[in-house]
Amino acid sequence: MEFFASPYLTDQKIKSFLEESCTRLCDWFATTDQREISPRFSELPEIDPFDEGLAPNELLDDLQLIMNGSYQPSHPGALAHLDPPPLVGSIVGDLISAGLNNNLLAEELSPSLTKLERSLCRWFAGKLGLPKSAGGVSASGGSLANLMALLVARSQAKRLYDTEIVVMASIEAHVSISRAIKVMGLPPHALCQLPTDNEGKIIISSLEENLRKIQSEGKKCFAVVATAGTTVRGAIDPLAEISNFCAKEGIWLHVDAAIGGVFSLSTSTSHLLSNISKADSVVINPQKVLGITKTSSLLLVANKADLYACFSTGFPYIEPSSDNEAQGGELGLQGTRPAEVLKLWIGLRQLGQKGINDLLDGSLKRRLYFYEKINRQKFKVISGPLHLLAFTPSSIDDIHAKEWSMTTKSKLLKNKFMLSRPNYKNRYYLKAVMGNPHTTLTHIDELIGILNQCI
Ligand SMILES: *Cc1c(COP(=O)(O)O)cnc(C)c1O
Repeated sequence: MEFFASPYLTDQKIKSFLEESCTRLCDWFATTDQREISPRFSELPEIDPFDEGLAPNELLDDLQLIMNGSYQPSHPGALAHLDPPPLVGSIVGDLISAGLNNNLLAEELSPSLTKLERSLCRWFAGKLGLPKSAGGVSASGGSLANLMALLVARSQAKRLYDTEIVVMASIEAHVSISRAIKVMGLPPHALCQLPTDNEGKIIISSLEENLRKIQSEGKKCFAVVATAGTTVRGAIDPLAEISNFCAKEGIWLHVDAAIGGVFSLSTSTSHLLSNISKADSVVINPQKVLGITKTSSLLLVANKADLYACFSTGFPYIEPSSDNEAQGGELGLQGTRPAEVLKLWIGLRQLGQKGINDLLDGSLKRRLYFYEKINRQKFKVISGPLHLLAFTPSSIDDIHAKEWSMTTKSKLLKNKFMLSRPNYKNRYYLKAVMGNPHTTLTHIDELIGILNQCI
């Protein structure tokens, strides 16, 4: 077989190699239940390239070994994390994107895809209610997108270099926020962690109190991070109050909507995200809820020019883009970027508005069903309005809760359910994410049945 596809004719050997790889993938999906959700032991292929390259069937056998040892998001019992089964349209988008091998760095290297990225970001910005000036860029994951958002916020704030600067965020904000502070060269105390209430949301009065304290120490707060969907329980910080506060104080509002953001795409759930339109920047991770294949994350800003102002360097070796639009490579930290927008766009096109609504509603319905069925005398359940929750036995202390979480997790694994084990406010919980469309209410009954035996 040739190494590269012919530019002159359809190479039948390459075509059947691609087709056979699709068959292997479909067979892998179809045999999910025959393997562990997250296989612990599996044979690994040899690593070194041999002198002679391998034939297609040998390559596929190598790949098969990796597939046999892979985590299986399509298993109906895979409920541990925000890693849903891959949407088929998105898989195809990934394949085509790999075949096109375009580069979102610059328009001349990705003419149609660069325009697609601009339009899709504008479409998302419109769905969130951001102003006309809004725009965005895709990034390889929410951690990178959050870092970029805080860099933009910092670049916008005036008089930064002669004062100590601070970001205020919930104690339940994602770890990528503290990592961003760390890699931005700021000391750990540059992150002011705000307390949360019983629902996992920022206590509003703490914003004012902490800001006054920061100011009285001669420091400046350059951003407030609100989380729309916390990682452990899916809580949404009070966006109306926080946005009012930020507007009044002239502070950049970043909303980390990595989990919750896509719920603004459906009219039956968009009320959960009301006032997200007032953010200066938003991060949204379609990879986490809709099954867009990894990675799929967008950074959207209310004023697109802010991205360019922060990241532009000039590209002396690249042609300017049409309409004097900024090049993709000057809107963020990444240079060369794959066309991740393709799988996002085609995935949404495959779902259609109805498919999007059904996926979101279905995951909320499963969360509610679980919540109603679990014995809430015996378990303390924590949740928010989204599709995830966590629980712990109410009658035992923190030490025993840790033991319980470990033994119950392994018992569940033996019964083909995988939950995760977060430590929340110094206590271990089990967490279930109900974004898997293969999980039926019968599976949830079964899960609850096992949990009742574990208490
Ligand atoms: C997952 C997550 C992130 C980070 O996203 P990655 O794509 O994993 O880098 C950021 N914020 C929240 C709230 C998340 O749940």
